[in-house]
Amino acid sequence: MADVQRTPVIAGNWKMNKFIAEAAATTSELVPLVSGVSGVKIIVCPVFTALSATADAAKGSNVEVGAQNCYTKESGAYTGEISPHMIKDAGCQWTIIGHSERREYFKESNALLNEKCAFALANGLKVMFCIGETLEQREGGQMNDVLRTQLVEGLQGRTDEEFKSIVIAYEPVWAIGTGVTATVEQAQEAHAFVRGVVRDTFGDAVADAVRIQYGGSVKPDNAGELIQNPDVDGFLVGGAALQAESFAAIIKAGAAN
Ligand code: PEP
Repeated sequence: MADVQRTPVIAGNWKMNKFIAEAAATTSELVPLVSGVSGVKIIVCPVFTALSATADAAKGSNVEVGAQNCYTKESGAYTGEISPHMIKDAGCQWTIIGHSERREYFKESNALLNEKCAFALANGLKVMFCIGETLEQREGGQMNDVLRTQLVEGLQGRTDEEFKSIVIAYEPVWAIGTGVTATVEQAQEAHAFVRGVVRDTFGDAVADAVRIQYGGSVKPDNAGELIQNPDVDGFLVGGAALQAESFAAIIKAGAAN
């Protein structure tokens, strides 16, 4: 494997939490806590209504802002949806695509997620693309097949150039919001497998460079050991990113590696 430096990407997914003022206040609290932290990309992802206020609060700092979802059309009769153009208009650079909650509750398919990812990239957003197996799939021995299918069907067609704007988030569904974290060994094993699939499908250059975040009950006290895994290149954090202080502690643990 080539000796490639992968700057960790640590993102907070605030899910359907925080009113506009709260999102802005948390961002204003986070900014000074992480202002001296280098060697890591920091992102917060609030609800759509708070994108603009969060981007304003982060302006001029090392904190970037992303949406949690994004549709495949620029504008028009798509009630309830939002376009990459609108997300950028709100001052944001990123979007999450394919979070397991979207796959589960909103039945988003690999084909739709492929389209969403392609459209977001084509219109200048960077993408955190989520994959992950359920406990049933893991215990039933289907984990590798599930991850491979989500990755290949979700990302097929993307070019080497586009991959520079894609971060993969491996989030075992059984670890999201449950307080159960994958062990250091489980995380490394899954991340190495995911990187291997990327290598087989998209080639060495993409596999060596692509950042793979771990997500699933990351906390200040487990971030330090998880990030030491050679194939863990950052985190996607839910619950522990809601408070600026605990999110900053995770960011610092990730950057210290
Ligand atoms: C997530 O929402 O992507 C997530 C990983 O949540 P939590 O950190 O709360 O498990």
